[in-house]
Amino acid sequence: MYAEILIEYPTKKIDKYFTYLVPNEIQDKIKAGMKVRVPFGKKIINGFVMSINNTYTSSYKLKEIIDIIDEEIILSEELRELGLYIKDKTLCPLITAYQAMLPSSLKLKDKHTDYNYYKKYLVLNKSPEDIQTYLETYHRKNKQTDLLEAILDNEKVLKSDYSYSIIKALKDKELIKEVKEQEYRIQKLDIKPQKHELNEEQQAAYDTIKNINNHTVFLLEGITGSGKTEVYLNLIDNCIKNGKSAIMLVPEISLTIALVERFYEWFGSKVAIFHSRLSDGEKYDEYLKIVRNEVSLVVGTRSAIFMPLNNLGIIIIDEEHSETYKQESVPRYNAIDIAKYRGSYHNIPVVLGSATPTLETRARAIKGVYKHLFLTKRAGGGQLPETEIVDMVTEVKKKNFIFSDSLKNCLNECLDKHNQAIILLNRRGFSTTITCSSCGFTYKCPNCDITLTYHKSTNNLRCHYCGYSEKCDLKCPNCHEEALSYLGIGTEKVELELKNTFPNIKVIRMDQDTTSTKGSYEKIINDFKNHQYDVLLGTQMISKGFDFPDVTLVGIINADNSLNIPDFRSNEKTFALLYQSSGRAGRRKLKSKVIIQTYNYDNYVLNCVKNNDFNSFYNYEMNIRKILKYPPYYYLVSLKIISQDYNLALEESNKIALYLKNNIDKSSYILGPTTANMFKLNNNYRFQIVIKYRFDDKLFATLKYLDDMYINENKISLEIDIDPVRI
Ligand code: ADP
Ligand code: ZN
Repeated sequence: MYAEILIEYPTKKIDKYFTYLVPNEIQDKIKAGMKVRVPFGKKIINGFVMSINNTYTSSYKLKEIIDIIDEEIILSEELRELGLYIKDKTLCPLITAYQAMLPSSLKLKDKHTDYNYYKKYLVLNKSPEDIQTYLETYHRKNKQTDLLEAILDNEKVLKSDYSYSIIKALKDKELIKEVKEQEYRIQKLDIKPQKHELNEEQQAAYDTIKNINNHTVFLLEGITGSGKTEVYLNLIDNCIKNGKSAIMLVPEISLTIALVERFYEWFGSKVAIFHSRLSDGEKYDEYLKIVRNEVSLVVGTRSAIFMPLNNLGIIIIDEEHSETYKQESVPRYNAIDIAKYRGSYHNIPVVLGSATPTLETRARAIKGVYKHLFLTKRAGGGQLPETEIVDMVTEVKKKNFIFSDSLKNCLNECLDKHNQAIILLNRRGFSTTITCSSCGFTYKCPNCDITLTYHKSTNNLRCHYCGYSEKCDLKCPNCHEEALSYLGIGTEKVELELKNTFPNIKVIRMDQDTTSTKGSYEKIINDFKNHQYDVLLGTQMISKGFDFPDVTLVGIINADNSLNIPDFRSNEKTFALLYQSSGRAGRRKLKSKVIIQTYNYDNYVLNCVKNNDFNSFYNYEMNIRKILKYPPYYYLVSLKIISQDYNLALEESNKIALYLKNNIDKSSYILGPTTANMFKLNNNYRFQIVIKYRFDDKLFATLKYLDDMYINENKISLEIDIDPVRI
């Protein structure tokens, strides 16, 4: 018996199968999709079994597989095929696709380590009758007889509840023995959930999806607080009742925690969760629950899309516009594409939900490629907040650098009424963009409508899409003040300012610093929910998903930062961020307010947020995309050429650009090479080429050729990102 093995070679450059002999001892156990250990050169490394054959033709002497790493964990045929799809679609080495499905942090059980978690119990070592006789002859009651009686009553008792000496004494008499039983680290009880009667809109959306029994992609576009979660819960419930299973993706772990409780309430022990914040052991356990068919629902972040549920009935992706669904390292897959692949494989619905879907998704829904469903009302009876846009140019003249008068007044009122507030510090954007702190002016590229990036070494501003550059002046070209600077206030500074301005205020901060330890998110969220704090202050981390009933004020500081990201999606991202943030206010009946502080008072995007008008924003932005040939009208590919050697990187970039010009369709556009957004990173120089295309049947072959060419280079690397989420 022979096996074709895909080697997990550390440099990832060996992307092909090797044949090995299957030794007799494992012939009846080995299956395609298992991970095995094999000798490779002088090393012993891991690999995936791709196929098993009974014949082998070459006379080359084969080596033997050493052993199977974990018999329970197998990549199914579906996932093995999916790996090939990812390889084709993202140009990654096949092995990296499988590594994404079984992440290395998912430690497997092998001879040396066993990630199973056991609890130790004490049980009888003799028949109950014998023990009974023993107890009767042994009249004196003491701790030993207590333990024996406890076991008689309960069959087994937890070892850790009894002292060592008692256990030892009884063991020496051979009356009891120890057993270990596997337990899962995360265990949930089934409780009775609080269910809402679906409102008309929810019911209509639910019915439409439920009644379609084939692969259809739905866009559930529902305003913040419209009760999308309730629709998901009902769909999953229906799916489980029909004996099928479901995958529910959420963008970030902070959201997972808030939401996951709802899923536990409904589905209790039928839920497995999967995200990067789990410990290795927890991940292993959750994975085992899935392969053992003990759960029907997986809730998790991006990589949960690969969970090996059989009999999938539905895939739901919440907040589908989130960038986190795209993996930024190899393999550069997008979980939404994977969902569609699996959806089509199982012939089941895929539901994309959001209040602010991406333009690409919405355009597809409008064209009828996806089925478009709407939720237009707040489900909990709350009202959308009133939004005020504050012009910081006038506030700065009053020396209000962080809080405008309006925000201060509203916050006072909110505190007086014992309501709660959320303050969002928009920290998106890079310090390499230059903004006038007096009027809010930023430099933009005349060709691409992209914020220019400042280069200190040459003191000029450059567009990293097309290469346009101009000199940087000290004076602002708009208001002629010498006030050009990098924008940047931190959350700590805002916290201090809050405490100085409002003496008795209780503020809790949520940012990368305060959430780095396990459990810290949950604690912040719960403490805020329980009114231990008046204000939740944070970065964009706090903009989405949360449902705090008593929040009546949302203040957004520095709304401009994300408008100034040098990316064609900055308007879209800003709209989503601000709209989602304002969606945290007024989730129940209370009247509520949102204050957006900006240096761009007249900005169209901000005004669409103010009017809760996604439609106008969509039309406006689609028009820009059309004129400038951006998605969804064109597709993008980004190529990054990276080297420690500046000249080499530039030279190769020019070569690649030339090669592309000669080998892709004439209707496609090639921008660059230019300096990439983060031009110098870890001592590497980074150049970029962007391709915009609509129909190009030569493109993929050309990209593949280039990719193969550079794979064995040491001094230079080429990174190809197809459909990048940012450039
Ligand atoms: P979304 O995910 O669309 O922003 P949620 O699912 O968080 O909205 O729902 C917002 C609030 O409305 C939640 O507190 C939820 O419990 C409540 N809710 C949802 N559906 C209903 C309903 N049919 N009746 C009453 N309350 C509802
Ligand atoms: Zn440009």
